[in-house]
Amino acid sequence: MSIEVKNISKSFGDFHALKDVSLNVNSGELIALLGPSGCGKTTLLRIIAGLESSDSGAVLFSGHDTTHVHVRDRQVGFVFQHYALFRHMSVFDNVAFGLNVKPRSERPSKAQIKEKVMSLLKLVQLDWLADRFPAQLSGGQRQRIALARALAVEPQVLLLDEPFGALDAKVRKELRRWLRRLHEELHVTSIFVTHDQEEALEVADRVVVMNKGRIEQVGSPQQVWNDPASPFVYGFLGDVNLFKGRAEKGSVSLQGFELQTDDQNQTGDAFAYVRPHELDVLPYTPGAEIGHNGKSNGLIARIDRAIVVGPVARLELLSTNASKGADNTTVAATLIEAHIAADRFAELGLREGDTVLVTPR
Ligand code: ATP
Repeated sequence: MSIEVKNISKSFGDFHALKDVSLNVNSGELIALLGPSGCGKTTLLRIIAGLESSDSGAVLFSGHDTTHVHVRDRQVGFVFQHYALFRHMSVFDNVAFGLNVKPRSERPSKAQIKEKVMSLLKLVQLDWLADRFPAQLSGGQRQRIALARALAVEPQVLLLDEPFGALDAKVRKELRRWLRRLHEELHVTSIFVTHDQEEALEVADRVVVMNKGRIEQVGSPQQVWNDPASPFVYGFLGDVNLFKGRAEKGSVSLQGFELQTDDQNQTGDAFAYVRPHELDVLPYTPGAEIGHNGKSNGLIARIDRAIVVGPVARLELLSTNASKGADNTTVAATLIEAHIAADRFAELGLREGDTVLVTPR
């Protein structure tokens, strides 16, 4: 089932939670709605589900307007952050619930329900827990059961709202890989809400980045990471350094070094977003910042903190370049983050407090 979200707006009082949001989800696709808290992810999901109405716009399932279709007739399965399992029912009965409450004419036989529930429990690899009660399960197991329960009624659309949000980091990691494999097996059109960039990039076919009630970018994980459509997307998807400078004839002079750009024609104030792993550092020797062309090719900085965990040294650097702002005031020391290989950091013999030359890699 494909989903088309057309020009949806939604306000709560005078707060605009969604502003003219449009989105197409292809049949069988797994989409992540990614954005900071309060950007409207859950509201959009609830409108798609039919749990909330929009002020304007429409949601189409396979081309059909769902505005007047009741939530129970939308063939939608849900999984929420807080396990919505029935505490007084066994795992088996929880998964069977949606089948047991079907009208008599549509309800499968007891034997068919048993077969279906056990095959779903096998699918989520928890068939050995069928007789347990929710209180006897771990958080991760509960979420897998919640997913099995959502799948029991064979939904055409699966909506997941921060399904792993309440779990610890290690379990989350395992479950997102597991969810991806499950999706590859089932291909149910799915929308997954998360505020965790890594989770969205790892799990989804396409990522929808939201900010303040609007969609900033829709693209594959590679597209949103490599080619962010806005400064917000750049910053939200990972650590980033913002440098200010001036663009002229295909190069941008920043606070200490120059970068080449593709655009020969742009002139004026410029910003450059540089990820920590795109920077390199060298021990500083006076004069080293002046390149062959006589221009500055690096930024002088002091290592304020060095966090070396595993293969990466994360360096927090304070720029000490006495650069002048446009109004001729000295720009305050800037915090720069650079990530280099831990081996290289050790070979260079660098320590906190040392002065280094920061260059683009
Ligand atoms: P989170 O990650 O924190 O869940 P979100 O991106 O899912 O955030 P929403 O839950 O969609 O955000 O909420 C968007 C905005 O709308 C928030 O500012 C929220 O306070 C507001 N909001 C949501 N539901 C209601 C409501 N029923 N009444 C009033 N305001 C609401």
